[in-house]
Amino acid sequence: MQLKGKTAVVTGGSRGIGRAIALELASKGANVAVNYTKNSAAADAVVEEIKAMGKLGIAVKADVSSISEVENLVIEVLNTFGSIDILVNNAGITRDNLIVRMTEKEFDDVIDTNLKGAFICTKAVSRVMIKQKSGKIINVSSVIGIVGNSGQSNYAAAKAGLIGFTKSMAKELAKRGINVNAVAPGFVQTDMTSSLPEKVKEEFIKSIPLMRIGKPEDIAKGVAFLASEYSDYITGQVINIDGGMVM
Ligand code: NAP
Repeated sequence: MQLKGKTAVVTGGSRGIGRAIALELASKGANVAVNYTKNSAAADAVVEEIKAMGKLGIAVKADVSSISEVENLVIEVLNTFGSIDILVNNAGITRDNLIVRMTEKEFDDVIDTNLKGAFICTKAVSRVMIKQKSGKIINVSSVIGIVGNSGQSNYAAAKAGLIGFTKSMAKELAKRGINVNAVAPGFVQTDMTSSLPEKVKEEFIKSIPLMRIGKPEDIAKGVAFLASEYSDYITGQVINIDGGMVM
């Protein structure tokens, strides 16, 4: 799998799964724009790792739920690299609560970042890809969007929405030479999941046939496949990367 000469934008590339995706794409030859919203030190550290591999990288601050910030991101990436070949809609948050306690803000924040963010980024980047007549868009959903989870109605709704969005975009953009797919990670060790009690993690592991929690690199390898020519005849699909948790 080679991504030499390609430019990738990874939203939420500063930490966790996004960081691993940015590094995996760079290791395959891509230049990478590492998007973040708060943690500039973490984004800069990822860019340094990309440069150490001999590839080009830039850190770009933008809240994916803001149309103007995402438009500026696209302008900055185009000014730096001249094209965008790969978009990974990875930025995501959780605001877990039981439905009777969930506030409107908790619901809206998760939908705005996890679902509307992908719409805003796809809309801005697809214009570039349509002109190029090529592109790969990969959305990071979740198995929770497929099976649901108590206390995560906002998150599950956003991630299920992202699957419908992926399939619609795949149909709409196929004739433009753009493939759109999703990955649905299972339980992955990142800052997002680090606060879960050990007991809950142990219970999770019991439900995973491959008997371990996922590493960010496990997800990054699937995304690199979907970003490469190895997946040229695949579009509109959701690949679960979850150790067999959901099948
Ligand atoms: P994480 O460690 O909490 O990292 C989240 C990343 O998203 C950070 O880079 C953060 O930037 C960025 N971000 C958050 N809000 C943003 C916004 N409004 N605009 C731009 N960037 C934003 O999370 P993760 O576990 O790696 O999760 C990455 C993706 O995988 C998410 O979509 C998540 O839902 C999905 N996922 C995770 C798991 C899991 O078990 N971890 C399972 C299934 C799916 P800053 O560094 O600036 O804060």
